[in-house]
Amino acid sequence: MSPKKKILIVDDELFFREILKEALKDRFDIIDGKDGQEAVVLSIEHEPSLIIMDIEMPTCDGIEACRILKSNSKTRKIPIILFTSRTKKKDMVLGLKAGADDYITKPVYIPEIIARVDAHLRTTDLYSDLEHKDLLFLLEITETISAIRNPMTILRLIVEKMAEIIDVARCSIVSINECGDMVVKASNDLSGHGELKLDLHKYPEIQKSLKSKQAVIVNDIKNDPLMNSVREQIKNLEFNSIVVIPVVKKESVIGTFFLRTATPVKGGITDRIYKLSQLVANISANALENAILFESVQAAQEYFEEMAIRDGLTSLYNHRHFYDRLEEEFGRADRYAAPLSLVFFDIDDFKRINDNYGHSCGDQILKKIGQLMKAVARDSDIPARYGGEEFAVILPNTAEEGAFDVANRLHNIIREHQFDQLAPNEQITISSGISTFTNKNLESFNELVQLADSRMYAAKRAGKDKVAQL
Ligand code: GH3
Ligand code: MG
Ligand code: MG
Repeated sequence: MSPKKKILIVDDELFFREILKEALKDRFDIIDGKDGQEAVVLSIEHEPSLIIMDIEMPTCDGIEACRILKSNSKTRKIPIILFTSRTKKKDMVLGLKAGADDYITKPVYIPEIIARVDAHLRTTDLYSDLEHKDLLFLLEITETISAIRNPMTILRLIVEKMAEIIDVARCSIVSINECGDMVVKASNDLSGHGELKLDLHKYPEIQKSLKSKQAVIVNDIKNDPLMNSVREQIKNLEFNSIVVIPVVKKESVIGTFFLRTATPVKGGITDRIYKLSQLVANISANALENAILFESVQAAQEYFEEMAIRDGLTSLYNHRHFYDRLEEEFGRADRYAAPLSLVFFDIDDFKRINDNYGHSCGDQILKKIGQLMKAVARDSDIPARYGGEEFAVILPNTAEEGAFDVANRLHNIIREHQFDQLAPNEQITISSGISTFTNKNLESFNELVQLADSRMYAAKRAGKDKVAQL
């Protein structure tokens, strides 16, 4: 068994030192001191693997000690975790500026301390034994990514550099959400910038890593029993060894770092490849979290933008968007001398429907009419709910004849539809009016609306269930 690692605990309060000692003594050799001066002396003498130190201490405080330790070549590499009370955030900033690696606020929560201690020792372990060129590589990527803002660019850079430094390897960073959806965010063998969705069932090694939250190494995929369920699919794969590292952020796995090496690589996943993968997975965590966050914000924004232009009941375009689009299309038609038509319709005797079946049945019918409109409209048409039970369809590049055709189809599809809310054979009919802008016959889009509207009322007066004739 390897000897226990040393941890130096520095605090002027004996009580506090004792609590920490008690929590850590089984796994570590504990040295303790009561102020910053002792911290420096004991660190030089014992070379501990980690220092946990209070900020507020008499004579030489934690920040001062931190500065001294980080400027001495003998103690510079020892990670320092500082303690500060929650109300003294300013001290914490000073501490971090003085070179502290982490901080914990008082009152302390023992499991949190243990987790932080482990995390720091894990990364220092990983750095030991790495080749000089690997350390330079890590330094280079951490420096480069600190200058890049786009998280996707960071992830791509990481996988490309990683594949470069390990021969015959391919590597990717994959995100995973709560539903288990797995998306390749960056991969050195994925050309272009698109994302690729993966089927988790095809990757038992990733499943295992997600479940255990631990790294998974498969050194001979063609024979490892872990890969039994996908034996057929992988038989022609040119890769032979795989390492999967979970990317963890705030205790949850947000993705995995996935590296495959081709046969024959001496020793498969060597200790060096494993350690580098661990470190690179750590480095990727922030960028991956940001990429995921960025996407959800973007999706939410798109959702709200869409909501703002749609009517809540029918999800057709709303009144305001109808006018925005009409103005736009009118300008286009004017500029390119293309025809533009408008169909307006109002449901016949809708009051009676509401009276007989209730307002919410009326709503359901309006919703269904929205669906029927969408079924009739072409991609370039713009169907909208103009208001209450009045609807409109903007028809770009469409002359009168085409507009009549659309109006007739709307009449037929609605009249022939058997609405669930109505009695059998009871029909809904509409009255409609059309108008067309062509050869500069109208001055503005408002005139186009007025014309269609007045013709629609003419159809009502002529007995309803009609497209008004021009
Ligand atoms: P007409 O044939 O002349 O159009 O007769 P109508 O009964 O349809 O009369 P009108 O168009 O003037 O009235 C529309 C009715 O539609 C009145 C209103 O209560 C109802 N209505 C408007 N908006 C909604 C809605 O969002 N949901 C429901 N259920 N009813 C609505
Ligand atoms: Mg009406
Ligand atoms: Mg009506």
